[in-house]
Amino acid sequence: MNLFPVTKTTNTRINNVNWDNLGFGVYFSDHMFMSDYVDGKWDDGAIVPYGAMQIEPALCTLHYGQTIFEGLKAFRSVRGGVNIFRPHKNAARLNYSADRLCIPRYDTATLIDAMKELVKIDSKWVPSKRTQSLYFRPFVFGSGNFLGVQVSSSYRLIIMTSPVASYYPDGMAPVKILVSSEYARAVRGGLGAAKTAANYASSLLGGKKAKEMGFAQVLWLDAVSRAFIDEVGAMNIVFVIDGELITPPLDNGTILNGVTRDTVITLAKDWGMKVSERLITVEEVFEAHNDGKLNEVFGTGTAAVISPVGLLSYRGNNITINDNQIGPIAQRLYDTITGIQHSEIEDIYGWNVHVDLFEES
Ligand SMILES: *Cc1c(COP(=O)(O)O)cnc(C)c1O
Repeated sequence: MNLFPVTKTTNTRINNVNWDNLGFGVYFSDHMFMSDYVDGKWDDGAIVPYGAMQIEPALCTLHYGQTIFEGLKAFRSVRGGVNIFRPHKNAARLNYSADRLCIPRYDTATLIDAMKELVKIDSKWVPSKRTQSLYFRPFVFGSGNFLGVQVSSSYRLIIMTSPVASYYPDGMAPVKILVSSEYARAVRGGLGAAKTAANYASSLLGGKKAKEMGFAQVLWLDAVSRAFIDEVGAMNIVFVIDGELITPPLDNGTILNGVTRDTVITLAKDWGMKVSERLITVEEVFEAHNDGKLNEVFGTGTAAVISPVGLLSYRGNNITINDNQIGPIAQRLYDTITGIQHSEIEDIYGWNVHVDLFEES
């Protein structure tokens, strides 16, 4: 019995996949989940072939950006089947973003059921190498056709999936980060805590210039005083100063409530480390470095899990962190989180949602 109506593709694209070079977000699995909101309610949803959609030029989302998304992964378990990592957190955050963008909420249990069904129907798309995974991209957009700034009365939710390589196919490697003193990503009262297109639109130019200068990403500061650190474009940021883990707090509403951030905080606390969610300035970070107390800096996010920062550049001043080496805390977090995701390490937190597969081989 299928939970949702299923229309199977008659034309699988799986033979086009280069499994040795998946990249990120390049290949899309055969099926997607789709549900429409019309006349004040979500329909039951259906699984259909992934493919092109017809849109009108007046599609409101193209003009006014009423759209939100999520990103999470499923991993092959060493004991068979697949683990979806912490999907309840992503479902809750989707609804947080929905509230901020005046989009109707979507039922959490249905969203997770839909992801499980997608894993089952496209189980051949779940990569089998230890470093690879199946990425879910749930998103919702206003589907009304009109001009004029107003809330849409109809919406479409889609969950598409993509087999992806590890961010680090050859192992974790430290990255160079530019602290932007020129551009801003989010402001208090704005959209910074929602996973919505506008935040990424505002980051594009700063990110492009940083790449041209040889940096991997931008570290954003608060838009008003430009003293306090917010986060990286698609990652939260953690500093280890004198053995203490410090990460910016969520209460300003300018940074994303990262699932990986929460995972890192939970693990580090359980390991007996001191963890502080508090404001931190660039100046404090550079001073700690000068005093020899800046042990490690790393980003946290679903794509890379842990991304060690080897160099920080701010107004022409560069500091090299931990001799551009992966620090012991970053390594331990990476090994533990990926170990739990693949069931190599016991999941004492109940983070994995397991999907049994009955695959013909
Ligand atoms: C998605 C995202 C993150 C990371 O969140 P995870 O849930 O850990 O993947 C951090 N910052 C921004 C701006 C993001 O879009």
